Amino acid sequence: MAATPEKPVAATPRRKAGRHRGEGQWAMGHHTPLNANEQTKKDDDGLNVRTRIETIYAHRGFDSIDGADLRGRMRWWGLYTQRKPGIDGGKTAILEPEELDDSYFMLRVRIDGGRLTTEQLRVIGEISEEFARGTADLTDRQNVQYHWIRIEDVPEIWRRLEAVGLSTTEACGDTPRTILGSPVAGIAEDEIIDGTPAIDEIHRRYVGNKDFSNLPRKFKTAISGSPLLDVAHEINDIAFVGVHHPEHGPGFDLWVGGGLSTNPKLGVRLGAWVPLEEVPDAWEGVVSIFRDYGYRRLRNRARLKFLVADWGAAEFRRVLEEEYLGRALLDGPAPEQPVQHWRDHVGVHRQKDGRYYVGFAPRVGRVDGTTLAKIAALAQEHGSGRLRTTVEQKMIVLDVAEEQIDSLVSGLEALDLQVRPSPFRRGTMACTGIEFCKLAIVETKGRGSSLIDELERRLPGFDEPITININGCPNACARIQVADIGLKGQLVLDEAGNQVEGYQVHLGGALGLDPAFGRKVRGLKVTADELPDYVERVLTRFREERHEGERFAT
Ligand code: SF4
Repeated sequence: MAATPEKPVAATPRRKAGRHRGEGQWAMGHHTPLNANEQTKKDDDGLNVRTRIETIYAHRGFDSIDGADLRGRMRWWGLYTQRKPGIDGGKTAILEPEELDDSYFMLRVRIDGGRLTTEQLRVIGEISEEFARGTADLTDRQNVQYHWIRIEDVPEIWRRLEAVGLSTTEACGDTPRTILGSPVAGIAEDEIIDGTPAIDEIHRRYVGNKDFSNLPRKFKTAISGSPLLDVAHEINDIAFVGVHHPEHGPGFDLWVGGGLSTNPKLGVRLGAWVPLEEVPDAWEGVVSIFRDYGYRRLRNRARLKFLVADWGAAEFRRVLEEEYLGRALLDGPAPEQPVQHWRDHVGVHRQKDGRYYVGFAPRVGRVDGTTLAKIAALAQEHGSGRLRTTVEQKMIVLDVAEEQIDSLVSGLEALDLQVRPSPFRRGTMACTGIEFCKLAIVETKGRGSSLIDELERRLPGFDEPITININGCPNACARIQVADIGLKGQLVLDEAGNQVEGYQVHLGGALGLDPAFGRKVRGLKVTADELPDYVERVLTRFREERHEGERFAT
């Protein structure tokens, strides 16, 4: 099916223009770009920028990069300019975007399903050391992000990544982003179904495919057959969640329309059961609806969640079945309530083959190239060469024999990678923040790390599962809206009336089958300096006043 604005997907409009006439839906005949982003995408497919990087920009340097490529199409290959060092958060809002650009890039490596081999991890570590000043953060979408990347080095980085089966293709941009997968797919004792074949097939068919490289906005996918619901399926554009159908056996429950950031929404169930082999077709149907009917006028109304909210689940399913799949989907059951709060697989757990997997917690996802190389060596020595990343900025070594566990745990803990972390180390996540992100207002990673230290010192026996998510701006990269304690970075006034770094507090968010967005506590803002005292007070009060079995979010 054609997919560019010049070649409409439907020869005649599929529907009459109605309430949302003029929102840029291609299926309703609106092909004139309604904003600069849409114009950039119409002018040239983002995937085409690779050739210019390889043949022009990498040879002539940063200043040769076309403006529309620099701030638009580079993202189709995982590249964003990073923040110029030394610009404080107070200036972020008043400077033009180009004044914040450094001549270095952030580069995101997509790791679909979070699956890595030790060889891949070793190469990721080597690239970090050689081209990224040692940086390599684990993200909460199972990816790795580098900083300090020079455009001159990008072709060589691609060559090395692709030689071991990794890529940066569509790691950013208005594209199908990295496909989240259960970090214990194929090995967990309690697994309902292994979604790995569907992840691989979707990747093979659709990633880097120009039929789907001009979407209204980013498109996030999650597929997991784990009863722990371990891929944050509620906040993805499309999610396939493992369920047992009473007649047909294991398969997936289909969810659409989740997403945080502007106007956060939880995904909705379509009530449809999809067998493993039909997941790629269902995925294609949903992403095609998004491409054809998605709103393209306003960037902050362009995610699939707005279309789903306007149509409702029943209408969305009808369009999917009648216009895209040409058949009805089977009805199916909802997932069951997960049996535990933690969904990150940290700790030592038995696999279905009798071996063990060992999950560990770096601090707020921050690792570095040297550490990654050492993790790869440990995994090689103690396992079979397989690792996974999680959606909580954690990692897992697979296939460890029982007699190797203690040695692996000691080796990891010697690198400050804890297998039995405190709830604070385990439950704290932070986005990139002001160190590198152009949108950031405050610092995040360093503050998250020092908050962990303070809480461990002040609350030594605290053993409740708790999530503390720290964002550097009002966006949602660290999922503040669904944390027990969500901290949204902004400038606040200190006691003396000075503008300083601080956070708007959101309390009581949760994922799981009882998901909720945290409540923005009216007027509750803390300065960065007050943060440890504030969190200590909240947790102490919770511990003293909670009833038996009560969780923070309830
Ligand atoms: Fe940057 Fe804001 Fe996202 Fe943090 S939440 S990485 S500061 S855009």
